[in-house]
Amino acid sequence: SNTIYGKDKDHVLELRTGDTSKSTIREKAAIVALVMNTELEKLKYTIRQFEERWNSKYNYPYVFFNDIPFSDDFKEGIQAVTNANVTYVDLSADYWSIPAHVDLAKVIRSHKKNKSRFIYGGKLSYQLMCRFQSLGFYNHPALASYKYYWRIEPDVGYFCDINYDPFHFMAKNGLKYGFTIAIHELANTVETLWTTTVDWVLKNKDMLPEENNAKWILRGDGDYNGCHYWSNFEIVDMDFYRSKEYTSYVDYLDLSGGFFYERWGDAPIHSIAASLLLPKEKLFWFDDIGYRHDTLHICPTNKNLDNNCVCDMQGSLHDYECLRNWRNYPSTSKQYVLSHLSK
Ligand code: GDP
Ligand code: MN
Repeated sequence: SNTIYGKDKDHVLELRTGDTSKSTIREKAAIVALVMNTELEKLKYTIRQFEERWNSKYNYPYVFFNDIPFSDDFKEGIQAVTNANVTYVDLSADYWSIPAHVDLAKVIRSHKKNKSRFIYGGKLSYQLMCRFQSLGFYNHPALASYKYYWRIEPDVGYFCDINYDPFHFMAKNGLKYGFTIAIHELANTVETLWTTTVDWVLKNKDMLPEENNAKWILRGDGDYNGCHYWSNFEIVDMDFYRSKEYTSYVDYLDLSGGFFYERWGDAPIHSIAASLLLPKEKLFWFDDIGYRHDTLHICPTNKNLDNNCVCDMQGSLHDYECLRNWRNYPSTSKQYVLSHLSK
């Protein structure tokens, strides 16, 4: 379906086919990746397609973050695949270190325990990455002049042309969070994320809006069901991440140390926050963007779009449980959340 939740279909279709590339309409927006020098070829692979399918018509700028300085080879390699402006950011320790309150002996114990329990279980750099993507990047001065961001990663494929400006589409419709794939998180990576979230909610009930999308993340027994938007693709109004409510939530998570004692991903954190703090009509599934990362992919289901799709429906995640629920579940109320959580 091509609806923005609660809005009429024709209106939405019209906007999504609106090509503003020839006009001067541009949002305050950037394409953003955190990436390592060693991933140059894989990032070039992503950008070549991203440019061909979309950005060569719009020329939105790129901002790349790294915990060590980008090499000249990296910069030259990127220059060869885009004409857009590119900013390279070397992250200071403020964005890339273990906070002082974290118990290092406990971190080491958790690495030993989790190394064989799940992927990246013993990897500090992965935890620093997840923390930066959860509570760091949107406050970095390199993004201060931007309202919207579109996250990309190395080794991503785009299967269809995008004939309109998703940033402008977000702006016109007042959307806050855009996604494509949604899947289940590995439960043992987030063992205490939900109880910590519930603690925060019960201490900050006044921060919950009257309407939300909490049913989408809740099991019948009030526990987290693991559904999360796959954050390697997301188009977000960073005013959401910069809000008092989101900031309060992620600061609370950070204080608990869970980024380092477990392996909390930025994807479940963004998704839980978006589900608790935003009404469903502020969320949008970009179901016309054919997308692959690693071994997972999704194809558009609307065959009437004139967008040169080359996408294998075999294995496409468009009907995966989390996405099916997203289509089917109604928006929920603050009362719904509070009555389910306090059990
Ligand atoms: P996965 O998608 O969860 O398997 O994790 P990835 O390995 O793809 O990491 C997510 C993103 O963070 C990618 O864009 C990586 O390039 C980036 N990333 C992960 N670890 C590091 C790191 O230690 N340093 C830097 N600069 N980037 C990292
Ligand atoms: Mn990845």
